Amino acid sequence: MTDRLELRRDLPNAAATTRSCSQTDLQASLRDEIPVAGRWQRGSGDLIESVDPATGKVFATLHGATVGDVDRAVRGGLQAAAESGWTAMLPHERARVLYRIGEALERDADTVSALQTLDTGKTRSETKALCLSAANTFRYMASALETMVGDVTPSRGPYLTLATWEPMGVVGAITPWNSPIASDAQKIAPALAAGNAVVSKPPVWAPWVTLHLARLAEEAGLPAGLLSVLPGPGRTVGEALVAHPEIGKISFTGGTTTGKHLGEVAARKVMPVTLELGGKSPTIVFPDADLDQAVAGVVYGIFSSTGQSCIAGSRVFVHRDVEEEFVARLVAATQRLVVGPGDDPRTHVGPMITHSHRDGVARMVDAAVAAGATVLTGGRAPEDESLADGAYYLPTILTGVVNEDRICQEEVFGPVAVLLTFDDEDDLVARANDTVYGLAAGIWTRDFPRAWRIARAVKAGTVWVNTYKQFSISTPFTGLKESGIGLEKGRDGIRSYMHQKSVYVDISGRPIAWGAPGGFER
Ligand code: NAD
Repeated sequence: MTDRLELRRDLPNAAATTRSCSQTDLQASLRDEIPVAGRWQRGSGDLIESVDPATGKVFATLHGATVGDVDRAVRGGLQAAAESGWTAMLPHERARVLYRIGEALERDADTVSALQTLDTGKTRSETKALCLSAANTFRYMASALETMVGDVTPSRGPYLTLATWEPMGVVGAITPWNSPIASDAQKIAPALAAGNAVVSKPPVWAPWVTLHLARLAEEAGLPAGLLSVLPGPGRTVGEALVAHPEIGKISFTGGTTTGKHLGEVAARKVMPVTLELGGKSPTIVFPDADLDQAVAGVVYGIFSSTGQSCIAGSRVFVHRDVEEEFVARLVAATQRLVVGPGDDPRTHVGPMITHSHRDGVARMVDAAVAAGATVLTGGRAPEDESLADGAYYLPTILTGVVNEDRICQEEVFGPVAVLLTFDDEDDLVARANDTVYGLAAGIWTRDFPRAWRIARAVKAGTVWVNTYKQFSISTPFTGLKESGIGLEKGRDGIRSYMHQKSVYVDISGRPIAWGAPGGFER
């Protein structure tokens, strides 16, 4: 398998805090083995061919998991949590392991970054930032765990009343391909911190960083069997994980259609789920905005990650008074973006995840144009011969559309922005909210009361004012409407992987005064 590895150019130098990544490191990570219930083994499922989207060439192969592996992983996880003492372990002891996983991730940031760029086409600067963010997530969850408290509630009788938190058993973590290591960490770190075992189901298109993370977790002292990683198709491996009778919770990040289906299955089992789903986020430019800031932020908000981001600012609302100047500057800034392979440090916009996804994005743009949209820039694959084999698509801006159009309502999940003009604040808010999604929004203005008004009025889980796509692990992330239910990150991130339990302890030493005169107040 490893003899098929082809790296097209030398990797950039590693940062001082991380161990530089060699071809040997990469090859060591590209082993055809998956961890199932504490044993690394060749998966018994279908062969997955990992394709570098920058070249269209297979760089590694992996045997995926099967439905049988799901059962072994879930039951093995429960057993490991009990037998290793993980669930019963004191919080500060579990926190030490999590902290060490964070340190190991940071040390290996260059390897993880190189793996993820090979697998997804994302730029090296982005994949490295995602890995360092994942390391921070593990360290944050370690400290959140150490400082987490239960409640002694006000007693209504002669007893001590306590509200405590307990793990759910085994958590299924199902993730998409667009930011693998970050979405892995956002689920696996708090779920482990809570005292659970985890069965991770990474996407077929990008399994490698999750497997590397499992090796680091083992090296950091996570007891064997607590983290199984089962790459494989959603319709078999994913379905089996959600349907498994012993699974305590599913935490899912992915498309809204899949999420709705998983929500239905979970409802039938009365099983908790967290669903982080799609978006069609508005980003709003007022006439008093700092246009340098707004242009840079809007370009970054839609075209970074080649637009393959749930929070992409894909609907750009511009006030009529600045429309001409803003649009001219936006188009110019977009045309300055460098499209190329993710491992070239000059690249801003890498290839899309697969050629078929790129073709789907192209079809959506073509349909919008056929329906009357005008392409201001992009709207096709680049003509550069050196990019001909990759899954590239030029950053695209469309105008001449209305908010009801399909291109303004459906998630493209690619580098495509639509431009919409507004005059009136109430009408703007109505149109910004006229979508099934409610994930994120951006507001560009120097008028703070207005920013606050719009931030409160827009139905979105996250709002950015004069910035976009900035995150902090200490701040919760959630989606409204069809963008999801439940939250991730923040101090309460751990609690979303726990059950609350109430305990009443009698302190009177007397029998319950049932039927006696002057019985206790309830
Ligand atoms: P997807 O829904 O096709 O797949 C996501 C994961 O679910 C994959 O691992 C897939 O194998 C699995 N899956 C698919 N069908 C399943 C089933 N029936 N049962 C169980 N598992 C199943 O999404 P995708 O194409 O991988 O990712 C893109 C989508 O993810 C976009 O809609 C994007 O907006 C969304 N996303 C949301 C967030 C967020 O935090 N809200 C973050 C990133 C991506």
